[in-house]
Amino acid sequence: KKEETPVLSKKEQKRARRMYPQPLTSFKELRTRYKISRRLAENVAEQGFTVPTEVQLGTLPLLLGDSCVSSKTTEEPDLLVVAPTGSGKTLSFLIPVINKIVRHHHSSQSDEHGILSIVVAPTKELASQIVNEGRKLVAGTGVKITLMKKGMRVVEREDEGEANVLDEDSEASRSDDEEDDDKPKKARSNAPVTKSDILVTTPLQLVNALSAHQTTTMARLPLVRSLVLDEADVLLDPLFREQTLGIWRSCVHPDLRVSLWSATMGSNIDDITRSTIKERQDDIGQTTQH
Ligand code: ADP
Ligand code: MG
Repeated sequence: KKEETPVLSKKEQKRARRMYPQPLTSFKELRTRYKISRRLAENVAEQGFTVPTEVQLGTLPLLLGDSCVSSKTTEEPDLLVVAPTGSGKTLSFLIPVINKIVRHHHSSQSDEHGILSIVVAPTKELASQIVNEGRKLVAGTGVKITLMKKGMRVVEREDEGEANVLDEDSEASRSDDEEDDDKPKKARSNAPVTKSDILVTTPLQLVNALSAHQTTTMARLPLVRSLVLDEADVLLDPLFREQTLGIWRSCVHPDLRVSLWSATMGSNIDDITRSTIKERQDDIGQTTQH
């Protein structure tokens, strides 16, 4: 008698495991299974959380890629995540973003300098909380996270092999970074910039910063690989929508991955996301036609 064929072939099983990876079972697995940076894993452990929350165990494997399934980096998806307030979404997006940058720093593209990741949040308070959480996680990893402040401008300096350094010549923009403080004034004015890998911002602050030099178009963010929209339902509602889309359009790198995080589906966020992605695709279509 002929044996029944299995529902999925080996190849299909492999593909399914990649698309629907096993949930994370413990924070230890971040190191043992997902091979994240040792220092980052230590920083996570130092937070003292015993078990990952539901949203963390679901999204971290998707965003980190399962090294048990494939030695190659698993294709990272764009992601829309809906999980209640207080469920630990911040850690869910920060760990993969930071890990990706550590990898980037060690990769062949490590001579690229500029903002690699943007996290957008609707209020300054939220942005500041994200940076505080991020600072604990980046300690010792070489990754730098910066809170967008009034008066900072994002400058494109592609000619010098750098893109999107932060120009901080305004008094209002004094950064709380220590490292340049003991340098003489003159050296500072030659390099009036802060280099940062991750920029955390409200929509308006970044739109203003990107528009500071240009009147018609916004500066681009050519190196950004991860765009995180936190409280995405708010960022895509009519009040912020154009600003958020403007930022999204400025992220022109072909490998850009976008993740949207929200506590609610209430405002039809799925529809909003679909139409936003479609608008963006139409935009890209238009730009390539010209
Ligand atoms: P959300 O963005 O989903 O509303 P947050 O990321 O702000 O939630 O997290 C809410 C609180 O839970 C924070 O104080 C955070 O430090 C804490 N937290 C995050 N992950 C865990 C965990 N695995 N176990 C216990 N507490 C956690
Ligand atoms: Mg949150």
